[in-house]
Amino acid sequence: MKKEINLILKSDYVSQYEDGYPLLLKEVLVDFEKVTQEGTIVNLLTSKKKFVAKAYHGLQNKGFGWILSRDQSESIDTTYFTTKIKTALSHRESFYADDSTTAFRVFNGEGDGVGGITIDYFDGYYMITWYSIGIYEYREDILNALKSCVEYKGIYQKKRFDSKGMYLDETDDFITGERASEPLIVKENGANFAIYLDDGAMVGIFLDQKDVRKTIRDKYAKEKTVLNTFSYTGAFSVFAALGKAKKTTSVDLAKRSLAKTTEQFEVNKIDVDTQEIIVEDVFNYFKYAVRKKLLFDMVILDPPSFARSKKHTFSASKDYVKLLKEAIQITCKGGIIVASTNSANFSMMTFRDFIKRAFKELKGNHKVQESFTLPKDFRVNPKFKEGDYLKVVFIRKL
Ligand code: SAH
Repeated sequence: MKKEINLILKSDYVSQYEDGYPLLLKEVLVDFEKVTQEGTIVNLLTSKKKFVAKAYHGLQNKGFGWILSRDQSESIDTTYFTTKIKTALSHRESFYADDSTTAFRVFNGEGDGVGGITIDYFDGYYMITWYSIGIYEYREDILNALKSCVEYKGIYQKKRFDSKGMYLDETDDFITGERASEPLIVKENGANFAIYLDDGAMVGIFLDQKDVRKTIRDKYAKEKTVLNTFSYTGAFSVFAALGKAKKTTSVDLAKRSLAKTTEQFEVNKIDVDTQEIIVEDVFNYFKYAVRKKLLFDMVILDPPSFARSKKHTFSASKDYVKLLKEAIQITCKGGIIVASTNSANFSMMTFRDFIKRAFKELKGNHKVQESFTLPKDFRVNPKFKEGDYLKVVFIRKL
């Protein structure tokens, strides 16, 4: 049994939690200092001692914990997590049934009722990501629940405990079952992906962009020259090439991106020699492209929310307009810019304003073709809009 404690909500915040807001914040509690141990169950009460909700204490970004239940008598045990996982699985039936996609999210934190944990599926293997020590305290219950709900080849984990969600480096992320091959080849809408379940913080693919990749391949890439910036393992480039792009150019600062991108082309039987992979700071590349008067039919922008390189610091909320202006200058007339951000700090409306501002400052015109937020497997809690962090806009330069 986990420790349990009663804490009092400041009266201004009672209705917010009665209404179902899932994130527990320190500021809403009268006496937060009474709870010190992560994993402790916190019963939130009004000043008149009326029960509002049950949470666990876990430190994550600005959060102090996540609401688990609004039923005072519910215990947080294997049965509790089994119910949550079963419900989550029922929302992914169409993904399990589709042989052309074997990598997707099966449990998306607060979107599936328990914040601080995600579970991804990779062709028979499961990857649990723990976002706080608090939720990791429940690992036995959660593992038992998962094992009872699914057939699995193996289960892996990533620990992202520190306040910025940084990966806790361990020699081994494997938990149980059999080990996956390295690489493990998974499918997404018919394309192949080489992933590594036990090789550092990331596996090699960001599952939240699946609809965007498919759209690039099926609707935009044909006969086009495509510049993919912040390309990582080149996922967008691969989909563009599979959509018969004339040529793709992938630019990323990380040295490993060259080998990783080459591998993704190879597992899709695309001749790497026909594509360009450049290891460089994109801001230098933009300068080079302008000097050489390069123009692309399509430019993809998918920067991290925040990044520091030797010469530049990039923050999506401060610098996205500048980034767009760089891209606009090397996109041909009638061409497409795919602007993406995973920054939870601003809304889609603000992002659309950034786009308007960039074109206005360059005295250019544009048309928004379509936009995307998180795909269906990344379930979002309607009471927690911040959870729908992804914003992708397809913009035509007129
Ligand atoms: N678009 C990718 C994911 C991008 S992740 C995909 O769809 O899979 C962010 C990437 O940006 C990382 O690979 C990181 O190495 C790269 N990066 C960060 N700052 C950069 C910079 N200034 N220039 C080039 N790449 C950068």
